[in-house]
Amino acid sequence: MSNQATALLAAYFETLSPSLTALIQLYSAHKAPHALMLSGQFGVGKRTLASILAQALLCEAEGKPCGICKSCKRAVEQTHSNFLVVKTMDKQRSVKVEQARALQNSLSTYPFLTGPRVVLLEQIDVFTPQAQNALLKSIEEPDANTFFLLTCENEQAVLTTIRSRCQIQRIPPWPTPLLEKLLIEKKLPGHEARTLSVLSGGSPANALNMRNDQQFWDMKELVDEAVLSLDSISSFPHSSSSLKNLRDQSLMVLDYIENAAMRLIDEKPTNDSATFKARSLLEGVLTARKHQASNLSWQAICDYLLLQILEDQTLCQM
Ligand SMILES: [Zn+2]
Repeated sequence: MSNQATALLAAYFETLSPSLTALIQLYSAHKAPHALMLSGQFGVGKRTLASILAQALLCEAEGKPCGICKSCKRAVEQTHSNFLVVKTMDKQRSVKVEQARALQNSLSTYPFLTGPRVVLLEQIDVFTPQAQNALLKSIEEPDANTFFLLTCENEQAVLTTIRSRCQIQRIPPWPTPLLEKLLIEKKLPGHEARTLSVLSGGSPANALNMRNDQQFWDMKELVDEAVLSLDSISSFPHSSSSLKNLRDQSLMVLDYIENAAMRLIDEKPTNDSATFKARSLLEGVLTARKHQASNLSWQAICDYLLLQILEDQTLCQM
């Protein structure tokens, strides 16, 4: 996150939920809760919001968080003396008790400057219960100037004793138009932003990861060719065998077809056949999902879907 981005990103979170607006205001007014747990699915912005809240507490300017004063910049870079960040190492799946004890020690000896101090515990849900227990005392018996920020994906993996001492703020999935706007702001081309915002499940990080995921774009190319361009029974065998190979991505395939159909409708087609095609695709996806729920094989689901689309096309041409 660049420093100038703070205000912009804060505005996005404020649009995402009124409770986030209130939260940022609380931190800016130095009325932050002693411990706050940000909870939400992968990539929804927990760490980014935590950084904004830390900046709001540490900022030296009038309009907090300004994102550009020395304190804000250091908070963004995580080099501020009063901002201690604890995160799991790459590929490390849990935080062990020894690390938690070391953290507790460093909290008591850490040479914080005067003023508010922020401790960010990322992914508290991957701390082992023993490690969480070791931290409990610090969270329970705070000094008045220390503010804890915790993030988690799975609240159930956080000890009740920790949860009960935190204010919990859930970050909702991003609605498609807001996420699309953010992706365009990040210089993604419009059509990519649209596709990714629909398929990422409301998670900006998911959308950005998918952008660089060749498997996703390969899937897209196959489905574009096999389903969206299917125009005669002679291409059926080829389409069928293309889709068969996408079994492991079946959910994403159906989401993608649905998204393509919605896009067709959004474009407000002037000819009836485009409208008809969009409806046919939507109905096809709906049926395919029902078939999936009843455990029909992926191959059978695809063949049924393709035949349905072909049949609708024939009807439309009559
Ligand atoms: Zn500032």
